[in-house]
Amino acid sequence: MFEKVLIANRGEIAVRILRACKDLGIQTVAVYSTADKEAMHVKMADESVCIGPSQSKESYLNIPSIIAACEISGADAVHPGYGFLSENSSFVEKLNAHNISFIGPSSNHIKTMGDKILAKKTAEEYGIPVIPGSDGEVKDLEEATQTGEKIGYPIIIKASAGGGGRGMVVVHNADDLEASIKKAKTEADKSFDNDTIYIEKYLQHPKHIEIQIIGDNFGNMIHLGERDCSMQRRNQKLLEETPSKVIDNKTRNYIGELTVNALTKIGYSGVGTVEYLYEDNKFYFMEMNTRLQVEHPVTEEITNFDLVKEQILVAANQKLLKKQSEIKFFGHSIECRINAEDPVNFIPSPGKIINFHTPGGPGVRVDSGCYSGITIPPYYDSMIAKLIVFGEDRDSCLARLERALGEFVVEGIKTTIPFYLDIIKEEEFLNGTYDIHWVENHMKNKQ
Ligand code: ADP
Repeated sequence: MFEKVLIANRGEIAVRILRACKDLGIQTVAVYSTADKEAMHVKMADESVCIGPSQSKESYLNIPSIIAACEISGADAVHPGYGFLSENSSFVEKLNAHNISFIGPSSNHIKTMGDKILAKKTAEEYGIPVIPGSDGEVKDLEEATQTGEKIGYPIIIKASAGGGGRGMVVVHNADDLEASIKKAKTEADKSFDNDTIYIEKYLQHPKHIEIQIIGDNFGNMIHLGERDCSMQRRNQKLLEETPSKVIDNKTRNYIGELTVNALTKIGYSGVGTVEYLYEDNKFYFMEMNTRLQVEHPVTEEITNFDLVKEQILVAANQKLLKKQSEIKFFGHSIECRINAEDPVNFIPSPGKIINFHTPGGPGVRVDSGCYSGITIPPYYDSMIAKLIVFGEDRDSCLARLERALGEFVVEGIKTTIPFYLDIIKEEEFLNGTYDIHWVENHMKNKQ
């Protein structure tokens, strides 16, 4: 077992990982930038090391600095959380070269799945259905035109190195193709330092359904059902729930088994999520995330399975304790991402939180790194807390969500809480049939 884990992250996820380590009796090391000196994860850890100035590039993305922090503190493993270095294969290689374990999959699996074109090819090869599109990279306008004619408009241009909803451009007809390719390539180059693009059919009313899996180093793998992440704005998730209103037991077993079979053949180990678009009863592979997801708690709530703890255990070369037949789904869970943003236009609203009071009581969980008096720095992601509620069915979960949102107090900055209080009254949210375009249409209709 690991003796000391360094958490190469900040905010709520650093706190979540710290808690799992403490539950396992593992010593913890927090790292922080100068902007995060007063952060909760720093206060909670057994030790902490400053790894650089505010800008992520110089701190949370600074590999030499993080490795130095491991050596100073004597950490034998690193948990990367999500974002930052969590899907950086060269970070994994460098840690391994220093005899430090990475709590996550092998660098090869990260490499394969991190390149969206290669990931799609690999998924298809192992029997996962994919969205019709270009055969890999699209090099020029001629290839793009041919693809457009073959699959029909609308189409979506995506960056092979993409992430975080960036580098995607939807094209409605051939006339816009040339300008859209230029736009996508420029954005991809700017955001990811790689302008490789590919094309897919743009689905008009899909749901975003993803499957959570976990595998060990001995060929055992299970799935923990789906999460419905269709509540999005600008291709980024806002609210997630499980089970999805549109997935029945038979469908869950089908897509869960298909995903597990493919990833077992690939030899994957660790936690992972395969993201699908689901339209007209068909699944289409979108991408795989080779790390813990923001929305993992809803799965934990309905399966009673501690994903972070199990992730650490399999990374420490332990066998999965549970078999698929032992995974039982019970009840319903919804997560709202509470962002420091204006609830109308989603513009970031960093600053000092004067008063922070979290809801509680049965079925309510808040994962956060905030407290009254903390200052939210402008340098990082705007998510400051996750409100996760559980109910024995969807209706009781919705009632609890409304109650918990009403109890949540964040003063001093703007947050997305009013946005959720608004949408929980909408019919399509209440009946669970909303698709990935719902938020944008809803906001337009409100104007
Ligand atoms: P990222 O890695 O940047 O998050 P994804 O490939 O996961 O990118 O896509 C993010 C979101 O973009 C999806 O959840 C979905 O809403 C939308 N999207 C992606 N591909 C398509 C597609 N082919 N048709 C319609 N929407 C898509």
